Amino acid sequence: MPEGDTMYRSARTLDAALAGGTILRAESAAIGQAIKRLEGASIERVEARGKHLNLLFDNGLALHTHMRMSGSWHRYRPGERWRAPAWKARVVLETAEAVAVCFEAPVVELLDSRALEIHPALAALGPDLLSADFDAEQAIERLNARPDMTIAEALLDQKALAGIGNVYKNEVLFFECINPWSKVSSLDPEVLLRLVGRARTLLKANATSGAPGIRTTTGGAAVASGNRLWVYGRQGRPCLRCRTPIQSRKQGVEARTTYWCPKCQE
Ligand SMILES: [Zn+2]
Repeated sequence: MPEGDTMYRSARTLDAALAGGTILRAESAAIGQAIKRLEGASIERVEARGKHLNLLFDNGLALHTHMRMSGSWHRYRPGERWRAPAWKARVVLETAEAVAVCFEAPVVELLDSRALEIHPALAALGPDLLSADFDAEQAIERLNARPDMTIAEALLDQKALAGIGNVYKNEVLFFECINPWSKVSSLDPEVLLRLVGRARTLLKANATSGAPGIRTTTGGAAVASGNRLWVYGRQGRPCLRCRTPIQSRKQGVEARTTYWCPKCQE
């Protein structure tokens, strides 16, 4: 599942490769011939919002894609071999300098760019953690509107706040020593503010680091241990703070895997 920082990086990479270039060839297994309306148009910009990636064109059209669990955008040089099979491609856009391929995105729509602004799925998104004008107060309000949800599920709810995937969910809860099964209503506003602030800091650091993958460990013994993450994917291995074995279990209606230290996050 793409995390907000991955989406942000994809948007930046595509923007650098495609912006200003004319689309010479457009193909889509998802929307068929409609995609041909992009041939001859230029990309004005590429933007990430939560797990949505939008490409805006100078002819007033916008391509809206949503990655959900499986989708991704790749950038290639013309003629370069793709890192995923061609039958998984949902959209292919080619300029003289670059080929952008969207793989496996469950949602691909070509819209009028004005329709994008009022698109229900985008309008419903909570404050975007990677946005420059991120509104923490509003994010807290939206979390508090989910009092009976567990905090782990609420952090993944893109309508509460946008950008946190399963890796960051687990990592921020460990950072702040919060049990993933705590009800939102049981947490003080300051605790929620700390969680949201931590998520924003980690997402921003990874979005701009230039290094591949996600790292949440910084400094000291955790880094010396060679671990890039505190708890995610570490079930059965010793907690990097207290040596207690990390546990894991599926959580919530979406059955996402939660990793936690039973001692640090009692
Ligand atoms: Zn621990």
